Amino acid sequence: MSEFEGIGLDEWLIAQCKAMGISKPSPIQKHCIPPILEGQNCVGCAKTGSGKTAAFALPILQKLSEDRYGPYALVLTPTRELAFQIADQFKVLGKELNINVTVITGGMDMVRQGKDLNVKPHIVVSTPGRLADHYESCDTFSLKKIKFLVLDEADRLLEDTGFAEQLEIIFKKLPKKRQTLLFSATMTPAIRQLQESSEEKVFSWSQSADVMTVDELDQRYVLMNADVKDAYLMHILEKYTTERPKSSIIIFTSTCKYAQILAMMCEDLGFPCVSLHSMLPQKFRLSGLTKFKSDQVKVLIATDVASRGLDIPTVDLIINHNVPNRPRDYVHRVGRTARAGRGGMAITLVTQFDVHLTKSVESYINTKLIEHATDESEVMKILTEVAVSRREAEIRLDERDFGEKREINKRKKLILEGIDPEKEEEERQAKKAKRKDGKSKEEKDAEKRERKEKFKNRFSKKKKAGKAVKQ
Ligand code: AMP
Repeated sequence: MSEFEGIGLDEWLIAQCKAMGISKPSPIQKHCIPPILEGQNCVGCAKTGSGKTAAFALPILQKLSEDRYGPYALVLTPTRELAFQIADQFKVLGKELNINVTVITGGMDMVRQGKDLNVKPHIVVSTPGRLADHYESCDTFSLKKIKFLVLDEADRLLEDTGFAEQLEIIFKKLPKKRQTLLFSATMTPAIRQLQESSEEKVFSWSQSADVMTVDELDQRYVLMNADVKDAYLMHILEKYTTERPKSSIIIFTSTCKYAQILAMMCEDLGFPCVSLHSMLPQKFRLSGLTKFKSDQVKVLIATDVASRGLDIPTVDLIINHNVPNRPRDYVHRVGRTARAGRGGMAITLVTQFDVHLTKSVESYINTKLIEHATDESEVMKILTEVAVSRREAEIRLDERDFGEKREINKRKKLILEGIDPEKEEEERQAKKAKRKDGKSKEEKDAEKRERKEKFKNRFSKKKKAGKAVKQ
């Protein structure tokens, strides 16, 4: 008897797991699937990348196959990309059932989503904000008969004050009698409180973890002065990609604006990349992520919007351009690499202002970061190019009105006026593309090419000289 049979899964689901290359249940699946199949509420906590999605998707699909109607399950998750990822897993695992899975997130056409909800999909995967919007604008659909509510990344959903109001709107519309499944990387007071306040029995399982990150992850730091941080970033990027040209890298940074600036600098200095942050229109977010996942682009620059749950199996290096304020966010970020038993490296850039934050991270993960050797003299050689490139990126962004608050307010205003901000952005881009640029642009392009060349030459000279690269 296979281990999957042992935990009560049906033959067709085991076959589907096999087709996906999953031969035996991960610990969270082994512990949580049986009680979910028995009808219990469940709280499951395990490290990121431990197979949490399948731990709830498999029993839901099995139950759905016994009693097919829609909407059967609602899965709430904090980010749009995670919603699409979860929906994909449901579609693949539930292929035999030919189920209808609908994703309801911001940044997509609301009318179309309304129609999708009206045809009673079996599984609805949603971010709380957009589902609450649907309830408030056109209450023509109902989730009153769902059998399962899943809160994925429950810690973030329950603790982030931004979600509280939206969750309240949604919860009022759900049936009292249902199974509630909470999945999270960490057990937080909010989750514990919810579990304790439940009138029904709740099965709870947490992976014991003295160390929050996996052994296969090589965790490093580089200490530098804040003024030269970007030059260090480019140096590390250049060195790593030269030594391992096939590798995929995610750079995490603190704000949307910084993510955009870094992306422009990387492009400018010869590293093709995509960016992912909440100020980008949704279709760019998804297409960028697809390009990165399919290996067309090797570098992804993102805010913490990408730090949770995204399953990109081949990421080799995470660079933390800033030390996250919350140690838990560090764990989520570095969890994008060294997944499912593979190795990976995380390098955190630490300035004189971040030493205490780094110490908090180290005590949270119960691991000391080791120093990643860099060649300061090489960094100094690229200081000017990097500084100029950054300045240029900032000017271009200012021209684009990228100021984050301004942009958010602009979007809010458009929405209040009944205009779709995504469409407005598309039209703006189309107009911009039509505009003819004169000589100044050519001059700018020539400067850019020169800078790129200079930047690359420095490293190729170094390589030719055959300097040993210290690790
Ligand atoms: P998740 O934690 O849900 O993001 O899953 C991380 C990755 O592990 C996904 O690519 C899954 O397809 C994969 N996975 C899920 N369950 C298992 C398992 N039992 N054995 C090996 N890989 C798995």
